Amino acid sequence: MTTHVSPAPTTDNEDPIPWIATHCPYCALQCGMHLGAAGPGPEIRGNDHFPVNNGALCIKGWTAAETLAHPDRLKTPLARNRQGDLVPVSWENALGLVVEAIRDTQRRYGPDAVGILGGGSLTNEKAYLLGKFARVGLGTANIDYNGRFSSAAAASNRAFGIDRGLPFPVQDIAKADVILLAGSNLAETMPPIMQYFEAQLGNGGRLIVSDPRKTPTAETATLHLKNVPGTDAALANGLLHLLIRNRTIDVGYIEDRTEGFDDVKASVAAYWPEHVERVTGVPEAHLIEAADMLGSAGTVMVLTGRGIEQQSQGVNNTLAFINIALALGQVGKPNGGYGCLTGQGNGQGGREHGQKADQLPGYRNISDPTARRHMASVWGVAEDTIPGAGVSAYEMLDQAGTDDGVRMLMVIGTNPAVSAPNGLHVEERLKSLNFMAVSDFFVSETASMANVVLPTTQWAEEEGTMTNLEGRVILRQQGARVPDGVLSDTDIVCELARRLGKGRYFEYTDTEAIFSELRRASSGGIADYSGITYEKIRINAGIYWPCPSESHPGTPRLFGNAVVDGDSFLPPPGFFTVSGRARFHAIRHRSPAEVPDAEYPIYLTTGRVMAHYQSGTQTRRQTRLVEMEPVATLELHPILALRYHISDGERVQVATRRGCATFRAKLSTAIREDTIFAPFHWADTESANRLTNPALDRTSRMPEFKICAARIEGLPERTDHEA
Ligand code: SF4
Repeated sequence: MTTHVSPAPTTDNEDPIPWIATHCPYCALQCGMHLGAAGPGPEIRGNDHFPVNNGALCIKGWTAAETLAHPDRLKTPLARNRQGDLVPVSWENALGLVVEAIRDTQRRYGPDAVGILGGGSLTNEKAYLLGKFARVGLGTANIDYNGRFSSAAAASNRAFGIDRGLPFPVQDIAKADVILLAGSNLAETMPPIMQYFEAQLGNGGRLIVSDPRKTPTAETATLHLKNVPGTDAALANGLLHLLIRNRTIDVGYIEDRTEGFDDVKASVAAYWPEHVERVTGVPEAHLIEAADMLGSAGTVMVLTGRGIEQQSQGVNNTLAFINIALALGQVGKPNGGYGCLTGQGNGQGGREHGQKADQLPGYRNISDPTARRHMASVWGVAEDTIPGAGVSAYEMLDQAGTDDGVRMLMVIGTNPAVSAPNGLHVEERLKSLNFMAVSDFFVSETASMANVVLPTTQWAEEEGTMTNLEGRVILRQQGARVPDGVLSDTDIVCELARRLGKGRYFEYTDTEAIFSELRRASSGGIADYSGITYEKIRINAGIYWPCPSESHPGTPRLFGNAVVDGDSFLPPPGFFTVSGRARFHAIRHRSPAEVPDAEYPIYLTTGRVMAHYQSGTQTRRQTRLVEMEPVATLELHPILALRYHISDGERVQVATRRGCATFRAKLSTAIREDTIFAPFHWADTESANRLTNPALDRTSRMPEFKICAARIEGLPERTDHEA
């Protein structure tokens, strides 16, 4: 890596480079793949030797190479001219405009008026470098990332003192007797992981899925709990009520390894099955059946996904499910426990190394004086020059362009115009900024609003580490050449720092040198990467953090299950709380911020479909993926469709208090009659996030993407009599 501005010397016209072992650009499973060129263009093969996916890929992974040679690829910087159009400019000109805007904004409004919004797909090295650039290069408190949109991290920190998505390898899934999976549709979002669920069922295990929709994942389940959106904590409390009543909790474990159970026991006493059925819509018989399965199993794994987390009660929902795993004595037990299914490619690593408003590298708290001293010594700056905590991602967008907010925004690896909630409002705020610089490899919807767009390298054109949903740090090796005219985000950040007079803090020979500094920065922190090297990752197909020294093998399993099936690891660290005990939390069910009423009578929930990823910047440009899923669909029950005279395939307009969007109707009995589902991968008039509610969880600051009140517009509603 260099700090100069000329493009890298290789071009996309040169001979293809050999097959390279790398990883998928999309989700948090980070499937291993080989990238090469047997024919005229880049090709992908699954990596049979990567133990997470064992060669399997989903359709997004198989087709990922198309982005590398896509005709829309941005290969020159763009800047807005006097007529308001984005036109090609030189790197010198583009970077000069960005530096001028930074200086001008900070002179007029102060250092915090410049904000950085990063993404959960960026490598650990980029996430680390952005955090450092914000604090050392710009002196701003305002940096956050789109992975903020997760509540399980906050819940895990409160319960266990540590946030690592899965505290065990994915292979353990196959060995659990019973799995309780809440709010996740893995069969569509992460298909290769289903091999472990299929093996679990094949081994005689049972799977319980809670979801308002009978998703392809729920279809595989032994028992589906089809709950009303936003009633997840009530459901979990109801199950715990039954486990206590049935005396199938692990009293010895609760006494020896946890604290706070008495309060939880008292609080779930009110969640008797008839009451829980009324709140959640889940029949009492199903609740009893689920509790019997959980209570009679030797090993139970509780897994949660975005469905229960992306709510204004997301942290509480997650804590209520963690209570079940703790009460059953499963956390730290071989082939049992609790885990969060992180979504974005580097959602885990992206929140560990300083890209988050309240964090310093190693998962350190930015308000902790010891953490600040440590980072000041690593960065070679005075401790008091490191800013304090900034605002969260949605708050930064919500206040952008106002007296209280940032006036200039640098957006790297994310597309908030499509992915943030309350989309029309966010678009308005982005347009009100004094200046916005976006780095991306396509002109995303956000980039199309920018003053300057910087063309960057994409996944296979650069190297760097990612941390998958298991806490396994893997290495994405470069497998494609850098197109002429394109720079990496790390080059761009280092060059901006140099032009701002901070170049001495940003001198790296290559990406591995950034990782070496990240290792020092994380040393002694909770997410300790200090013993991980690129070479160790290559040899071991990844290393699990924490890994505090080069002689340490990494930590596949946390919380005490140190020896499983002959694996021998270092002594168990127990829980990472002050007392060393896991914490129960008494949770009361509270309604979502917005529930259906006479004006907006239907629940709207949002999510992903198999063919697309996040804001669709990449996948909406992939031929095969667009063929599979060409437009945004609205899933609704035939009975609801009948009430509104809607036929399958018809265009439907949906409105909420924030805006409206149109979809193609997809009739399905899989969804509840009171709920509609829209995927969030599309933009403009098809954008589900024009509808979603930005109400935030008070702890995680996660918006309520998953639930709001909606109505179907433009078509007369039938009366009950007609229906
Ligand atoms: Fe890529 Fe995720 Fe699909 Fe694996 S499951 S191929 S990581 S998108």
